[in-house]
Amino acid sequence: MGFNAWFQCINEQCRARYPLNSIIYRCKSCGSLLEVRHDMEALARSSAVTWMKLFEDRYKSTQWPYGSGVWGKKEWILPQVDNDNIVSLYEGGSNLFWAERFGKMIGVENLWLKLCGNSHSGSFKDLGMTVLVSQVKQMISEGAPIKAVACASTGDTSAALAVYCAAAGIQSIVLLPRGKISVAQLVQPIANGALVLSLDTDFDGCMRVVKEITKDETIYLANSMNSLRIEGQKTVGIEIVQQFDWEVPDVIIIPGGNLGNVSALGSGLLMMRDIGLITKLPRIVVAQAERANPLYRSYLKNFETFEPIQAQKTLASAIQIGDPVSIEKAIRTIKQFNGIVADATEEELADAAALGDTTGMFNCPHTGVALAVLIKLIKAGKIDKAEHVVVISTAHGLKFTDFKVRYHEGTLDFPCTYANKPIELPARVDAVQEALEHALQKRRKQNV
Ligand SMILES: *Cc1c(COP(=O)(O)O)cnc(C)c1O
Ligand SMILES: [Zn+2]
Repeated sequence: MGFNAWFQCINEQCRARYPLNSIIYRCKSCGSLLEVRHDMEALARSSAVTWMKLFEDRYKSTQWPYGSGVWGKKEWILPQVDNDNIVSLYEGGSNLFWAERFGKMIGVENLWLKLCGNSHSGSFKDLGMTVLVSQVKQMISEGAPIKAVACASTGDTSAALAVYCAAAGIQSIVLLPRGKISVAQLVQPIANGALVLSLDTDFDGCMRVVKEITKDETIYLANSMNSLRIEGQKTVGIEIVQQFDWEVPDVIIIPGGNLGNVSALGSGLLMMRDIGLITKLPRIVVAQAERANPLYRSYLKNFETFEPIQAQKTLASAIQIGDPVSIEKAIRTIKQFNGIVADATEEELADAAALGDTTGMFNCPHTGVALAVLIKLIKAGKIDKAEHVVVISTAHGLKFTDFKVRYHEGTLDFPCTYANKPIELPARVDAVQEALEHALQKRRKQNV
């Protein structure tokens, strides 16, 4: 249909272009990150209404591969890939729900949660990995000598890479920081047949190693410096707006670590604006853990300088990153979206996650960071109670059960205000009745 996309250097002075089937992660002439650019003129030849109707017709249909939330927007993502090479597990189309009770508790009426963790591998990483692995399959079918696809990961990237590679029949390699990811996250790449390399370092250390081993072109790099992933992840913003019948919320809050996802969110929304589907943009808020907050530190200095830091251990393990790869893209996005960056302590993130759970959510710690930041920004008057707010929940709570268990056991190094301990009792009716009487009375008092 004549749609075209290519890699382009993000450095405005350079703008070098490379075809999408070249094995390249940074600009060859200036070393900057690349991004996928589209022939916007060709896309704008169809009207906004035509695109909206097409996206609605395909949404969650069984017409393969267009029922996928990503591939339903194929022309905007990766127009030249053959449908035969698409590796999809029906990602996207995740639920967006009105968090009515939680919103009331914290003072914002129109609060929604986008559950990106309700997906095949349990995090939003699926959205990007379907695109990357499909492009790899396309390149292999064209004769590229790719033997395996590798990534460094704080857990969720490796799970997504392993499962999409398994579906495609391509070997995956994952480099993980030993002892720093949850059992649930570790077991996913193992189960899906990845070569799992557990290294005695942190995420940033794994990243350094994987960059070296992928200089060999037969091992393809799947980290988010590879902008193919951003193309899939950018559907999250488009999908949110579509789910609101093409209305744009006022504020979108997103947890950020390596900062690819915030760039992706911005990129999808800008594309909608440029093709005419929307006229306003939301404010974007990036939420960081205080123990891994290099972007927040830079924000406090109006982004005049950026300094990588040594990330400290945080319960929000997927964002324990001190030297984010996509820093330049993220700063650009925050400026374009009149954005805010804020951070949350361990206690704040854990309490916010737990408080949300008492209203029917089941939050991962990263979503806890976003909720904690929301609470702070409402208190500070930076988000108004009348605003339409969306929080992006990045992973499924079931991937982080150790975090929840320790919170409710009260064994973390802070008070755990909402801990809910099981009551141990003999199996006697009178003992149970007596315990219930006390416990229910206590709950009633707490709830008034
Ligand atoms: C990867 C990840 C993030 C951070 O996304 P970035 O693109 O690295 O900023 C946040 N939450 C979860 C659960 C993740 O897996
Ligand atoms: Zn360049």
